[in-house]
Amino acid sequence: MGNSPEEALQNELGSVVSTDPRVCYEHAFDGLKIAFTPQAVIMPTEREQIGTTLKLANQWKVPVTVRGAGSTLTGGATPVKAGWVINMTQLNNIHVDAENQYAEAQAGAVLKDIQDKVEGVGLFYPPDPSSHKWCTIGGNIACNAGGLRCVKYGVTRDYVLALKGYLPTGEFVEWGRNVKKFATGFNIRDLWIGSEGCLGVVTDVTLRLIEKPEAKLTFLAGFSDEEKALKASLEILQSGIRPSIMEFIDALSVQGASLRTGYSFFPEINSPAVLLIEIDGNSLQLENERLKLENQLTKLTPYTQVAHNEQDAEKLWEVRRKCSGAMFRLGNSKLNEDVVVPLSKMVKLVSFIRDLRKRLHDTIAVFGHAGDGNLHVNIMYDRDNSTQSKNAEQALEELMHEVIRLGGAISGEHGVGLAKSEFMDAQFSATELQLMQQIKRTFDPNGILNPGKLFEVFKPWEYQKQDYQFPWDKK
Ligand SMILES: Cc1cc2nc3c(=O)[nH]c(=O)nc-3n(C[C@H](O)[C@H](O)[C@H](O)COP(=O)(O)OP(=O)(O)OC[C@H]3O[C@@H](n4cnc5c(N)ncnc54)[C@H](O)[C@@H]3O)c2cc1C
Repeated sequence: MGNSPEEALQNELGSVVSTDPRVCYEHAFDGLKIAFTPQAVIMPTEREQIGTTLKLANQWKVPVTVRGAGSTLTGGATPVKAGWVINMTQLNNIHVDAENQYAEAQAGAVLKDIQDKVEGVGLFYPPDPSSHKWCTIGGNIACNAGGLRCVKYGVTRDYVLALKGYLPTGEFVEWGRNVKKFATGFNIRDLWIGSEGCLGVVTDVTLRLIEKPEAKLTFLAGFSDEEKALKASLEILQSGIRPSIMEFIDALSVQGASLRTGYSFFPEINSPAVLLIEIDGNSLQLENERLKLENQLTKLTPYTQVAHNEQDAEKLWEVRRKCSGAMFRLGNSKLNEDVVVPLSKMVKLVSFIRDLRKRLHDTIAVFGHAGDGNLHVNIMYDRDNSTQSKNAEQALEELMHEVIRLGGAISGEHGVGLAKSEFMDAQFSATELQLMQQIKRTFDPNGILNPGKLFEVFKPWEYQKQDYQFPWDKK
């Protein structure tokens, strides 16, 4: 068995286990950048090695955290209780079955590789978190990832037919099958989706595919204030138009993107807020939607730009792509929230944030998925300035309570992880939280898998962040 858990692990699995301090450091944190160093990292090349790892972890009572690309911004993949990290990225095979319109992938496959392979045979896998070049499908399933196209196409959950993987105790299980309908037994597949790596390790997934839209068209609409932009997004949806993307970007975020790109998106408007809208479909559908959208936009604002080719579209997209990185001019630290409210409450939420800016903390910028009510609220502050840090923390607390009061949720797509654990008891009743914890204990009686997440309060602002650049930071 070995004298230490790591020795036992190495005896069983050999070279896929590393205790090299450099490797352990690289697995100590994720996009949240708060480090807790594990004792060993396992990079399985065969899925059975995951079962072996979990069985050993249960024998030795070692915490295990599963990791895809580590692109989560919530600390969900951080080994907060140390122990072992399973890095899934070597398990990355993808197979597209065009006849049955599904793709089978191992959990470590990168989303963009799946999308490219699927589109290569004229099919389409719509969920598209902006991290698609790096994040893995296993991470997407664990977080029920969303993205830009959800307004028309839905989230990861809407495309998962079947999952395979290991229970926290090390037994192999399969939830769902490669069929389009499944009404057989409890739906544990959907319980795993969004369970943030706490109820099992996903090893294999089957994804439902749809026909690839033939073409798309991009619009950018400018508004003199945020309320007008958000109200316009509601009117567009109410008029029956189904944009594939409808992103809201507030005036402070647009200013940042303008500074970054040197491009004034609507010079006619002082501090514009914008909507970035995309429609897609076959040529007939696209023409129909284009006429409806142009007609609607004419009623909503005199300031609209349309991209007539890929190059023009890229230019319009700059406002969305550059706004997030540009925020660091407002402060060296970011509390990055992805709250969601009913569509009709977005205007109220944004006016509440305007009040927060005046009253408490002026560097709060908002952009995000107006078509879903899922807005990214970025509270920027300087860590070394204690007044700013305190005000940012207070602003966050008030924001979360307002979101819940408006009938919304503290996370629409990123998950809870460590970063939002403080607000779980505001979101859920004691009974609801107890049931979730009972479910966790049923799957994981020894509390091995991803302990310390969701249910234990963690305050990220009390920890020093690592000065580390992930590939997605280099934008
Ligand atoms: C630049 C940027 C843009 C982003 N944009 C979006 C966006 O538009 N929409 C969105 O929803 N998110 C977005 N995210 C957040 C993040 O990319 C997603 O949550 C993504 O799904 C995480 O995938 P990952 O492979 O990096 O998982 P990780 O970060 O490695 O892990 C995330 C969670 O999943 C668990 N996990 C990972 N793999 C498995 C597995 N095989 N089995 C069980 N549990 C597992 C981990 O334990 C952890 O709890 C963005 C992040 C960045 C950095």
